Amino acid sequence: MNPFIYPKSRHARRERPGVLSTYQKYKPSLRREFERKCVYCRMPDSMKDPEMYGVDHYRPKHRFEQLVTSYPNLFYCCNPCNSRKGDYWPPWGRGKTHFIPNPCDHEMFRHLRFKGSSVQSRSDAGKVAEELLDLNDPEVVRYRELILDVLDTYGKMRVELDSVRTELSRQRDTGAVSALDADTAIASIDMDLAKVDAVLGQLAGTLKVATEHQD
Ligand SMILES: [Zn+2]
Repeated sequence: MNPFIYPKSRHARRERPGVLSTYQKYKPSLRREFERKCVYCRMPDSMKDPEMYGVDHYRPKHRFEQLVTSYPNLFYCCNPCNSRKGDYWPPWGRGKTHFIPNPCDHEMFRHLRFKGSSVQSRSDAGKVAEELLDLNDPEVVRYRELILDVLDTYGKMRVELDSVRTELSRQRDTGAVSALDADTAIASIDMDLAKVDAVLGQLAGTLKVATEHQD
């Protein structure tokens, strides 16, 4: 459930949006492709207004005009990361080390890892990303902490509800509680579980994104 984990393998794109006239039109596909998370800081968009997220050109559009609407060059990205990244492209001769890692071309975890709510760089490329994108902006670190705390609390609540549910159904099966009483209590627990799951999904950004119509 923790969204703050950098992937250990490369992401193979699944969405097939075809050729669209402007890069903004790829946003719904990118949102599904990268499961509502900024590819650089991993913050789920469910905690913020999705308008605070946009389309990142991995190869900056001013230098790579032919890739402005090329899907493989586009990533889902929060606005702060996007504006901090700006037109960054590695200085000449330093492309092998001073790039910003992305989840399709690189194993992100080789370059960046989370230690609790903070990001640690594990390579030169990770350091470029950490510094340029300000991945340890104190306000963001505090926000991540809050998300992790709430995820933890709701996760424990879920385990507790689950065990009460199991115990109730055991008591119903052994006749210790009447079937009617047990079923009523279980139905109420199921409603609580659904609410807990909705909060967990929202926080972790795992709620499915509906397929939106694109034209
Ligand atoms: Zn971000």
